[in-house]
Amino acid sequence: MILIDGKKAAAELRAVLKQEVTELKAKHNKVPGLTVILIGDLTPSQIYVRNKEKSANEVGLKSEVIKYPDSVEEKTVLEKIRELNSDKTVSGILVQLPLPKHIDKQKVIEAIHPSKDVDGFHPMNVGNLSSGYESSIPCTPLGCYLLIKKFEPNLNGKKAVVVGRSNLNGKPMTQLLLKENCTVTITHSKTKDLKAECLEADIIVAAVGIPELVRGDWVKKDAIVIDVGINKTDKGIVGDVHFEEVSKNARALTPVPGGVGPMTIACLLKNTIDCFKRSQI
Ligand code: NAP
Repeated sequence: MILIDGKKAAAELRAVLKQEVTELKAKHNKVPGLTVILIGDLTPSQIYVRNKEKSANEVGLKSEVIKYPDSVEEKTVLEKIRELNSDKTVSGILVQLPLPKHIDKQKVIEAIHPSKDVDGFHPMNVGNLSSGYESSIPCTPLGCYLLIKKFEPNLNGKKAVVVGRSNLNGKPMTQLLLKENCTVTITHSKTKDLKAECLEADIIVAAVGIPELVRGDWVKKDAIVIDVGINKTDKGIVGDVHFEEVSKNARALTPVPGGVGPMTIACLLKNTIDCFKRSQI
């Protein structure tokens, strides 16, 4: 079994992006800028945002974090987003989720101009992705896609099973695999026989949030298995895939941690640079 090393792939991607930023700076005399809005003091969100800022600085992006207390009014956040939409030094805007209950997530997502939507959550970008047009692509599925393509460049005709249908992961992942001419089955909590579906797959992407749901005897020999899950358990952080069991069958598998996670942040940087490049045309 080959371990798909997301940490290494992310470091390689960051090196390419750093070079790209240097070239963009030479050409345009400015660098892409990422602005993150962080509301409240949830520890995981603070850690994510700190990591995003650190990675952005590492590749040479201009990076800014705007912090608000939990009690901030929705209209204050929406006004700030409008201001950032028209700020030419800002290429990408990200509002860290989850949001406090009194702030409408969909309103916030739709306030971000699609051309600066580095998370790829705006309905315009969702529609563009499903129509096969250029768009920002949600960072985690984009990271999974790049890992799969690095390992298996030709996905023509492969059978893929995506476990989970969230807007964040499962649905965009399905679109990316379809674009690569895979035959894709998308499964969810109401799927009748998940094991039987997975046993058909050349590629499995698990994005569920249930620790070690995908077992060794669910995976056919030679399958590529991508584990998106991050689950806190008594034995530490585990994925949605039973690593020991599945590693005996699969041809390739991503570990948790060190698989999809590092690629997610690298793809955020990629999306920011891509937004900048599209704005210069
Ligand atoms: P989510 O929004 O909770 O969606 C979970 C999906 O799994 C839903 O579509 C649900 O089906 C489906 N599901 C639930 N139980 C199932 C079952 N028994 N069999 C088959 N499908 C089932 O989760 P998410 O936001 O996509 O996140 C999924 C996991 O990825 C979590 O562990 C999260 O922490 C992790 N994550 C990792 C990264 C990263 O960077 N690595 C980024 C984001 C998320 P229904 O639609 O029918 O409810």
